[in-house]
Amino acid sequence: MIFTSPREKGDRGDLHPCYQPLWTLVGGGQFNLADSGKPISCLMPKSATHVKENVSSFQPAENKITLESGSTLNYDALVVAAGLELNYAGIDGAREALKEDAKVCSNYSPAYVLKTFPAIKSFKGGKAVFTFPPMPIKCPGAPQKIMWIANDIWKKDSSVGEYQLEFNTFLPVIFGVPKYAEGLMKLVESENVNLNRQHTLVEVDHLSSLAKFKKEDGEIYQTNYDFLHITPNQRPLGIFREDESQLTDAAGWVSVNEKSLQHSVYENVFGVGDCTSIQTSKTAAAITSQHAILCDNLNKFFNKEKLAEDYDGYTSCPLVTSQNTCIMAEFGFGGEVMESTFLNQGKNRYSMYLTKRAAIPFIYWQLMMRGLWAGPKPLKPLTNPFNWN
Ligand SMILES: Cc1cc2nc3c(=O)[nH]c(=O)nc-3n(C[C@H](O)[C@H](O)[C@H](O)COP(=O)(O)OP(=O)(O)OC[C@H]3O[C@@H](n4cnc5c(N)ncnc54)[C@H](O)[C@@H]3O)c2cc1C
Repeated sequence: MIFTSPREKGDRGDLHPCYQPLWTLVGGGQFNLADSGKPISCLMPKSATHVKENVSSFQPAENKITLESGSTLNYDALVVAAGLELNYAGIDGAREALKEDAKVCSNYSPAYVLKTFPAIKSFKGGKAVFTFPPMPIKCPGAPQKIMWIANDIWKKDSSVGEYQLEFNTFLPVIFGVPKYAEGLMKLVESENVNLNRQHTLVEVDHLSSLAKFKKEDGEIYQTNYDFLHITPNQRPLGIFREDESQLTDAAGWVSVNEKSLQHSVYENVFGVGDCTSIQTSKTAAAITSQHAILCDNLNKFFNKEKLAEDYDGYTSCPLVTSQNTCIMAEFGFGGEVMESTFLNQGKNRYSMYLTKRAAIPFIYWQLMMRGLWAGPKPLKPLTNPFNWN
């Protein structure tokens, strides 16, 4: 087994993968950024050879990948799990604003997430603007989770004067699954959020504290901000955008059968996670289910058996709605609700917040990383025996 990863070093002098779902709570002042990562040496299976180098291109017809140094590696089977690229540069002035304006922050990158809580604490009233870029993005709930956390902090802080929340989203709805959108719309109304649908951030002029959005009809809407949380544009990695190897679809996502995770052309190539063409919400939760199917199908591939087509699109988005409540969205392909518990998960619940804050990180580091977690489905006969949704 050979595993490649980038050369970058983390602040503990080791390669440092992160559990990104925690960054919502880092931005909300509930966790330290360092607590979201672990040195990769702790996680690497003993049987694996770790090549600390980026892949620069794929030659699937020759069962080969090329590394940045120019050397090549051959494989019998290849799993592509390279994530996606954050494209802050796709929004004019966003990088400058994130560097120079203390009022501008973004939970999506470790480079900027530490700006979020100080910006929340410095806000003393006025207009707080939150953005949601064109789809697909990872964790489509995260752009609004930070709004609800910030709102809860500001409501309880007597030094904060009058303020207006504004959520500008590329989407025509607050959330893509009606069951969860219903609970979120109640919040939008009770918290008097100015919800601008089909408004995409295109420019930030931090010298004038101005954010500009393109509306569906092409017109520009602009507003001043006293706090701005940016969710960046997102796209396939450069290695896929420039890929002439047929690994990707026209948009640059690794093209796989979304039920078996096998590549649509090369039968010894598999894809998992954010880099793939799978039509479900890009989340770590989705990967918990995908990786179980991936492992099973890799074994089947090596044993020359028929692959299982079992992935149902399971994904989950813990929609944190305050500093201690959460709507736990769980759904599959086509937005089919797939809740793991018998509770109505469309409601705000403290128990679901604890699940997001404590249980899921534990599952991620202690179970999933050791191959002991295949998503919540196997437990469902116990936790939701009558399949209430
Ligand atoms: C703020 C935020 C909140 C989120 N909240 C949630 C949540 O509540 N629940 C949830 O389930 N998900 C959440 N997510 C989404 C979740 O973190 C991602 O969907 C998940 O990390 C995707 O995993 P991945 O392995 O596909 O990609 P990544 O985690 O991005 O990993 C890709 C890996 O590939 C490596 N790589 C890249 N290029 C190369 C190359 N050329 N060669 C070799 N290696 C390479 C990268 O360095 C990285 O280690 C959130 C994400 C963010 C940013």
